[in-house]
Amino acid sequence: MAQQLQLSTDTEIVGQAMVVCTTHLGIQHKALFQGRELVSRVGSGRATTHRCKAKNKHLIIYGRKMIEDKISAERACFWLTFKEIQKYGFYGGTPTFLHLIGHTVIHEFGHAIQTIEGHRTRGSVHNRAFYDIVGRLHAEYGQRVLAYLVRKCQSHGLDITQLN
Ligand SMILES: [Zn+2]
Repeated sequence: MAQQLQLSTDTEIVGQAMVVCTTHLGIQHKALFQGRELVSRVGSGRATTHRCKAKNKHLIIYGRKMIEDKISAERACFWLTFKEIQKYGFYGGTPTFLHLIGHTVIHEFGHAIQTIEGHRTRGSVHNRAFYDIVGRLHAEYGQRVLAYLVRKCQSHGLDITQLN
């Protein structure tokens, strides 16, 4: 029971850190999001998505159960983000919890850019253009995203570098 409660507190802290980190990435891309809205929030389920609700409204959801899954070595490997870290060598190709969470923020934010740039079409979501965008985001913001997430969680008393 106590452990369950701890887990749910931890996922909330991590989720909120991902939300604030996404907002910061949006600010770094101010010109691109000019006249557009970027909102992210923590969802109660597993679903982790980017949706373009209206033409100018981007919504990113980070599911709490997704965060729980990524804490678990047995469940994390079923996520696309886990496979992407290994396949593309993001964060040195090592899917630790911290790397998974950082890459998830970049992945979903990448979909927002992809949509704005017109590279997301029906039936073609995880396409070449998307991975070009994600690669660029990693090169420029990858380490900063990790440092930010670590700091933000630490300010709430949670050391996510210990959650592998
Ligand atoms: Zn995706």
